[in-house]
Amino acid sequence: MLDEKLLEILVCPKCKGKIVYSKEENKIICETCRLKYGVLNDIPIMLIDEAESY
Ligand SMILES: [Zn+2]
Repeated sequence: MLDEKLLEILVCPKCKGKIVYSKEENKIICETCRLKYGVLNDIPIMLIDEAESY
């Protein structure tokens, strides 16, 4: 489970905008860039190169 305080300070590395966390997918989502960032061992992988577009 991701720390909520961590989620509050996280921003999308591409647009510096707000992100949302999808519990079902266990992914961090930027709706502006339409990118999904993975989460590994409760650590968000905030890398544009590693993100998947949707
Ligand atoms: Zn973004």
